[in-house]
Amino acid sequence: MNRIKLLSEQVANQIAAGEVVERPASVVKELVENSLDAGAQKVTVEIGAGGRSLVRVTDDGTGMSRDDALLCLERHATSKIVRAEDLASIATMGFRGEALPSIASVSRFSLTTRERENDSPEGTQILVNGGTIAEVKAAGSATGTSIEVRQLFFNLPARRKFLRTEETEAAHIQHYLTLAALAFPEVAFTFVKDTRAVWQLPAQKSGAAISSKIEALRERLRALLGDEKLVPVNFSVLLDEPDAVPDETDIFETASAEKPQVSSASSQFRIWGLIGSPGVSRATRDGQFTFVNRRPVENRGLNYALIEGYHNSLMKGRYPVCCLFLEINPAAVDVNIHPAKREVKFHREFEIRKFTAQAVHQALLAFHAEPAKTVATEKTPSAPSELKFVPETAAPALPNFPEKLKPSPAAPAQISIALQTPFKMGFSSSPTSEEAELKTQNSPSKTAAPVSIAQLPNPGPAAPLLTVPLRLVGVVGRLYVLLESDRGLVLLDQHAAHERILYEQMLNRLEQKESAPSQKLLLPETIELPPRDAIFLREQLPALTRLGVGLNEFGERTFLLDALPPFVKVPDSRRFVFDLVDELRAAGREVNLARLGEHTVAKTVCRHAVKANDPLGGAELENLVEDLRRCAMPYTCPHGRPTLIEMNYRELEKKFGRTQ
Ligand code: ADP
Ligand code: MG
Repeated sequence: MNRIKLLSEQVANQIAAGEVVERPASVVKELVENSLDAGAQKVTVEIGAGGRSLVRVTDDGTGMSRDDALLCLERHATSKIVRAEDLASIATMGFRGEALPSIASVSRFSLTTRERENDSPEGTQILVNGGTIAEVKAAGSATGTSIEVRQLFFNLPARRKFLRTEETEAAHIQHYLTLAALAFPEVAFTFVKDTRAVWQLPAQKSGAAISSKIEALRERLRALLGDEKLVPVNFSVLLDEPDAVPDETDIFETASAEKPQVSSASSQFRIWGLIGSPGVSRATRDGQFTFVNRRPVENRGLNYALIEGYHNSLMKGRYPVCCLFLEINPAAVDVNIHPAKREVKFHREFEIRKFTAQAVHQALLAFHAEPAKTVATEKTPSAPSELKFVPETAAPALPNFPEKLKPSPAAPAQISIALQTPFKMGFSSSPTSEEAELKTQNSPSKTAAPVSIAQLPNPGPAAPLLTVPLRLVGVVGRLYVLLESDRGLVLLDQHAAHERILYEQMLNRLEQKESAPSQKLLLPETIELPPRDAIFLREQLPALTRLGVGLNEFGERTFLLDALPPFVKVPDSRRFVFDLVDELRAAGREVNLARLGEHTVAKTVCRHAVKANDPLGGAELENLVEDLRRCAMPYTCPHGRPTLIEMNYRELEKKFGRTQ
């Protein structure tokens, strides 16, 4: 007896729907992607009951002819690829030709479309009921396409049962739409939830230049997520032929026949977008958006790269805020490894990770090196050409990240300007002399007198704090240094600043192969450790010695502490060694190596720097700020806590209820 039968088209579609249509958000995703692929300039998404009762996506894209409208409901019907080889260079969002028939098989579906190129005012409407075409008729409609999906999973009660609450489903939809809206700032998006408009995002003008794309993205981000201090990233590098040396993860797959063949020329890899300026971070990855060839992706390597790029300007357990676009030869990345195309795999994972970290790091360094004069240009609302970006093409000899903490040699001009800007401090109380000083500098406003503060221009995404003149006001709580800039109030954490300065000085010395200064202790001390701690500490001895901590083996589990860096003064040497071991252990847990890097050790040693709780004099404070200005990453301490907090006049006015 023959038992094998071919499945009916309808059943096959429902099975495919199991993969493609997980929940209402997947419907929204597939439909919006189709609209974007159809060149829409305006996309409207309406949902009812979290998408369970209704999802309607309307666009002003190319539309479809009657024949195409019928064909698009067939499985594997697509206008986007023709041959298997096309898979190697997918430039559109969709390509499987599965979405529409799958969605139509599990809902009450209606498609209304009118071709843009056709002069006839008549369009086509097709009604499909659980995969069966119920009606095809001519219908008047605007050019473009509108697809309505009602009662999702009405014919699959088991799937329907698995849907979450309306709010949860709506949140998933909104999350996807956020990604789409960020990837396409030049497209207007409207989102209507239960007849209430949630967003009406205007199209952002954007040209071919990266700087204009970044500005469009900035506006879109502001509309979606509010104001955040953001730093532009623009980095590109030539990658040579992607498959010349398959990396280890590829070895098992390269044998497979479907593996797309890759062209042998070198290709450009570019990373651009916006990242949170130092000190801006979140407790979750929610503020982190990454795209590869405009497709929102999740890739663990990229997540690590971001953290690596921020290096020590992120606090432990905090995540960067970013919206980054990776542009890479489509042949060097696999998007076809996940049915919903959420995950991607880079053929050269390691390189991509390295360059991404480098791009982020350079952007943060360039942010600090930006000259103060941008404050003045900030007044003209859109002066994208004035923005300073990281050099377009990376130098062939790439700085040895992350060993290099000094500003990238690629931007020496910017740095010297920043360093030359006179730094104004001191207790001079005469406002007139301050005013005079201000005028000689790059003050954005002629009115520096405090009375006219309210008329100061909106500080906007202003120049980095340490490049504008600061005036010392005083010290609060023997720790926080109060400063004033022409933008408002600045608070500096003495300890955090001191730690940052010491840390960078240590690293610079290491880099120059100078030995760190070390002071012999009057009374060397022997310390006995538990066996496991002893083994661990032994691994760290070379780094500690290089950093000026004189610890030597004195027995199997005993160490002799006989010297310390001059800035470390410990009342109890034994405690110091115990704490050091604990802290290094904790730091090592993330790194997971037997021997920690010198960066990590230096960071830990700096924590024991003298706590300058004695009131510092004006000159000492001036030096502190001056030294901080010379740091490559001055805005955070080595552990990622902020060194400076700024509250501009706008924020102050808001707090005092002067403005809304
Ligand atoms: P895919 O997007 O993978 O090609 P779909 O099932 O999503 O497969 O769509 C099938 C085809 O229908 C697309 O290739 C496209 O030609 C056409 N199509 C779908 N949605 C639209 C739309 N909004 N505007 C114009 N054409 C569309
Ligand atoms: Mg599609």
